Amino acid sequence: MQLHRFEFTQVRMGVDARIIVYAPDEERAVRACRAAYTRISELEQMMSDYRADSELNRLCQRAVGRWVKVSPELFSVLWRGQKLAQQTDGAFDVTVGALVRLWREARSTGKLPDEATLRAARARSGYRLMELSFQRRAVRLKTADMQLDLGGIAKGYACDNALRVLRRYGVPRALIQMGGDIVAGDPPPDAPGWRVELAEGGTTTLRNAALSTSGSTEQYVEIDGVRYAHIIDPRTGLGLTRLVLARVRARDGITADSLATAAAVLGEPDAKRLERLYKGAQVSVVSSN
Ligand code: ADP
Ligand code: MG
Repeated sequence: MQLHRFEFTQVRMGVDARIIVYAPDEERAVRACRAAYTRISELEQMMSDYRADSELNRLCQRAVGRWVKVSPELFSVLWRGQKLAQQTDGAFDVTVGALVRLWREARSTGKLPDEATLRAARARSGYRLMELSFQRRAVRLKTADMQLDLGGIAKGYACDNALRVLRRYGVPRALIQMGGDIVAGDPPPDAPGWRVELAEGGTTTLRNAALSTSGSTEQYVEIDGVRYAHIIDPRTGLGLTRLVLARVRARDGITADSLATAAAVLGEPDAKRLERLYKGAQVSVVSSN
């Protein structure tokens, strides 16, 4: 059967979500990709920190001091985030939302938060302030006004889900890209894999694997000659000031995305330790001070 290439782009989770598939005809491609985008939209409604009515934001309000049951999807992302937080001693931490908000404020005002504001936000951050119960599939927060933030892990998870939907629709030869997160399924016809361009030049090939890039070079605010990236260093509460580019190849998107963010915070040589914790993951970090 002859397969043709189809490509779609729609904005999801604040970035261009691109889906490329090989399918026998346009109708099949459109039906599969529409279902994949619908799935990503559902996950966005669960995990967005921008939408006041997302499941995540409602959780932040309701779970202070008491267990709140959450959807299986949200729970599994929080669980993976929490596991990585423990493994990295909090370098990766989905409870940094209050600090991310301060960073966004600094980006719009051009000023760093004052010390008291920073201290208050730090007191509302820290993975030990979030408890998860596997049995109840529930979350409990130890402090009021916490802000959870899945910006470092949700896009990779969404790409994984989109690929699963495409497979279910009989379109397994697919590539999904959301910003710096890429998940590849079966390869294009007559090719060993999907050819992916790398930011620093060159290409790599992906099949049934994921590749994520994370770093301080794209999104940052410059204040008094210092660049603060949108990735928070939980040790300072501020954006990373090191120049760093982390890349992770892994078996799935949730792993690649979260490890790339973690690797950017950890820097070399600590980031390499992640390879021992996640079988098959390849971590590379380029940084300078
Ligand atoms: P991008 O969102 O640009 O693809 P990342 O995957 O590295 O890049 O995620 C960065 C996002 O992760 C930030 O915008 C923020 O929402 C969140 N974040 C920031 N610092 C941390 C951290 N230390 N641990 C986990 N998530 C973080
Ligand atoms: Mg990430």
